[in-house]
Amino acid sequence: MTDPARAHRIAIPPALEEARSLAVALDGADPLAGMRGRFTLPSGAGGRTLTYLAGQSLGAQPAGARAAVEAELDRWATLGVEGHFHQPGAWVEFDVPVREPTARLVGARPGEVSTLNTLTVNLHLLMASFYRPTGPRTRILIEAPTFPSDRYAVESQLRHHGLDPAQHLVVVRPAGADRSLDQHLLEAAIRAEGDRLAMVLLAGVNYATGQRLDIERHTRAAHDVGAVTVWDLAHAVGNVALALHDWGVDAAAWCTYKYLNAGPGAIGQLFVHERRTSDAELPRLEGWWGNDPASRFRMAETFEPSPGADAWQLSTLPVLSTAPLAASLELFEEAGLAALRTKSVALTGFLESLLDRFVPDAELLTPRRPDERGCQLSIRVPGARARRDALEARGVVTDFREPDIIRIAPVPLYNTFLDAWTAVDALAGTTG
Ligand SMILES: *Cc1c(COP(=O)(O)O)cnc(C)c1O
Repeated sequence: MTDPARAHRIAIPPALEEARSLAVALDGADPLAGMRGRFTLPSGAGGRTLTYLAGQSLGAQPAGARAAVEAELDRWATLGVEGHFHQPGAWVEFDVPVREPTARLVGARPGEVSTLNTLTVNLHLLMASFYRPTGPRTRILIEAPTFPSDRYAVESQLRHHGLDPAQHLVVVRPAGADRSLDQHLLEAAIRAEGDRLAMVLLAGVNYATGQRLDIERHTRAAHDVGAVTVWDLAHAVGNVALALHDWGVDAAAWCTYKYLNAGPGAIGQLFVHERRTSDAELPRLEGWWGNDPASRFRMAETFEPSPGADAWQLSTLPVLSTAPLAASLELFEEAGLAALRTKSVALTGFLESLLDRFVPDAELLTPRRPDERGCQLSIRVPGARARRDALEARGVVTDFREPDIIRIAPVPLYNTFLDAWTAVDALAGTTG
């Protein structure tokens, strides 16, 4: 029988130099190889292109991003306030072109997604709607390690409702620090909370371990005990396939500056299931941009919600931080998420095999099964600082977490098999 954790693995030759030739051959056979040229990759001293493996923190710049922003600066310079309504490209509907590509990426109906604010703000807006503690049903369940902002947001929501996080926050922890979670135990923890559980807030892909959770399974468990689910998809969107509508997820939010490559602090996005957006009783924090565009500019006293997830909008769309998103989503449309994911499984599997062979003292913290991770691998290494310095000296950009964890994300849109080899070559040449 084929071991699902190994089926995707590529046989690695015994010497680093031969492995390099293999990487070059794999790049030569990569149908998506041309996408790399559609990015401006970070460069180091003397203008040499860096080996950029940090897309899980900030995605590389799509070559079209600059022109997309400049076009809006030009419209502003020439049209002034008329730019809001002047066609083509009126700013009042500037988010329209990103709607369908976004819906395709997350497996949503177009009306279930909206482009607004930034991630932590959107988590708060979703909790204002979906975290409604009543009677004994007060608890929020999260997993560890939790991205700090999510933890602060959840704890402050509890306090906002007059509840003490020490009593009402449930944190499901892995067996060892920085390890991945046992998903059986996670599901069991959700079910065990029963009617004390109001909301589950989990990450689709964990920022620290790179573990991908089974969103459908944990959503079902939460629903079975009467709780709602809000998913943080910061590390999942543009990285793994999602089917938020079919999985029945209540709501989700994500940023666009990681795998969606929209640039630092770019506009955020959210999903609210149509089953929820059609519920007139669902409370919401509101602003004029959430008013139906058909009546928004009548400036009436009563709020008429936009259909779907757009009712969560608050403010005028930040056009300059949305323009690069549009440029980036065009590349996802062109490449196709299915093809990207196929490459991603091979590329990350290649990196994993190289690490196993040439950096045997690295401990992999990310699950080995491709369906339990995205592109990122997190490793714990002895002599992590020396190794980070070696990577840096070699022009390899990764993410270092104190005291000894290195996160490496080969992104299928712009990374190569040779990039993975280069990182491993730098790590292998340095010991703890
Ligand atoms: C990147 C990330 C954030 C960052 O939130 P911002 O509000 O965009 O600064 C929050 N949560 C998770 C899980 C993340 O990965």
